[in-house]
Amino acid sequence: MPATRILATLGPSCWTLEGIRQLANAGASAFRLNFSHGQHDRLREVVARVRQVEEERGAPIALVGDLSGPKMRTGPLTDAGPIELVEGEEVLLSPTAKATVGRTIAVGLPDFASLVVKGQRVLLDDGNLDVEVKGFEADGVLAIVRHGGTLSSHKGINLPGRRVAVPAITNKDLEDLQFSLEVGLDWLALSFVQEPKDVVMLKRLIAVAGKSTPVIAKIEKPLAVENLAAIIDVSDGIMVARGDLGVEIGPEKLPNVQKEIIRLARQKTKLVITATQMLESMTHSPRPTRAEASDVANAIYDGTDVVMLSGETAVGQYPLETVTTMRDIALNVEASSLYRESMALLRAPEPDGVAQATVRAASSMAEEIGAKALVAFSASGRTAASIAGHRPRVPLFAMVHSVEALRRLALCWAIQPILIGQADSLKHLYRLGIDALVRKGYVTGGDRVVLVSGSVTGGYGANMIRVEEVSRRRTPPA
Ligand code: PEP
Repeated sequence: MPATRILATLGPSCWTLEGIRQLANAGASAFRLNFSHGQHDRLREVVARVRQVEEERGAPIALVGDLSGPKMRTGPLTDAGPIELVEGEEVLLSPTAKATVGRTIAVGLPDFASLVVKGQRVLLDDGNLDVEVKGFEADGVLAIVRHGGTLSSHKGINLPGRRVAVPAITNKDLEDLQFSLEVGLDWLALSFVQEPKDVVMLKRLIAVAGKSTPVIAKIEKPLAVENLAAIIDVSDGIMVARGDLGVEIGPEKLPNVQKEIIRLARQKTKLVITATQMLESMTHSPRPTRAEASDVANAIYDGTDVVMLSGETAVGQYPLETVTTMRDIALNVEASSLYRESMALLRAPEPDGVAQATVRAASSMAEEIGAKALVAFSASGRTAASIAGHRPRVPLFAMVHSVEALRRLALCWAIQPILIGQADSLKHLYRLGIDALVRKGYVTGGDRVVLVSGSVTGGYGANMIRVEEVSRRRTPPA
């Protein structure tokens, strides 16, 4: 499997037991539940299937719950079906309409009129349709169609360039959060983050519920790009959510912004996911376009930890081929000397105290002495995750004590997480770790391993590096 992780969105095209099994076997190490679609009862069954596949394979799978955030959407349709927007014609964007019909588009937000100004562009259906605000009426906002087409139900509404004063976490998000914590999802992504406090609020809610589920901020608003560094600082990971981001800032600005987001995340050694339309044409075709293959490869060269699939696996015709294609692209990139050179250039994380200095030193030491394994002992898995940020060229293992940490790490670049028991001393801890590596065949007698840990077995951040040679007595006879 490649070091770059593949996060596949679950949906009707792949969420049967066999579908999940096939995608995991093909290289998906994490799955996303998109709360914009799917009922809790259905998703609960899907989570159980993922856990069954995990058990069968004996390898952890990370589940990411994607909270919809304050996404604005058009309302449902009537029996008359989708409506046609014709360039130059007027439409009414109505907060009071129950459904979209004729020339009226239901927008479902009571104070929609206060969010827009005259001359404002309102984009519908991920920017496929474009209308411009002309005036205000008692029952809605009058707009003229600039770019027409067919509008069906529940399509996204974007107000490019506007700071939207809506709560960062909606009532639906609260219900989805409760569900996520109850079924034990491993990561939570928050859509439409605008400021660091949006992430902090979600983290507080998680902590109040007695959990420590890490949070990924989805960068899809221009304001989030402006506040990028501060958002990364308070988040456990970020996602370049190119769908809405592309609608908001325009596709021509997206490549630069994507590179900037990945670069900053790398510098701060935070997990970064590149998402949306990576292999879009594979939704309906068994082969990707050349441009898509290059797009996936370039995100990996830029240093993304994770590449994500959305509709391709959720509703596409070729979910298995898509994951296989993504895996093969990643394997080819990672085998190239160009990738090693790119990763070397990316190794310049901001100094951040003892733990960061320790993992940086351990990473270069492991390479220098030709270690067969670089092993991080940490309760939360955070030490291993920050070593991964240094992109070591030595197999990286995380020794953790809980299934929760094990699963979280399945989303992190290159880390092979291993569950070990509790130890009563450091010596005991190291022995458990080395025994596990020998048992699984990763190292053998005479191999050097670099061990990174805190000075106490409970794990208070990395501050110790130890080099050991695996005893030949430990290796079982062939
Ligand atoms: C995106 O907009 O790119 C994204 C990942 O979010 P969603 O899939 O929820 O639209």
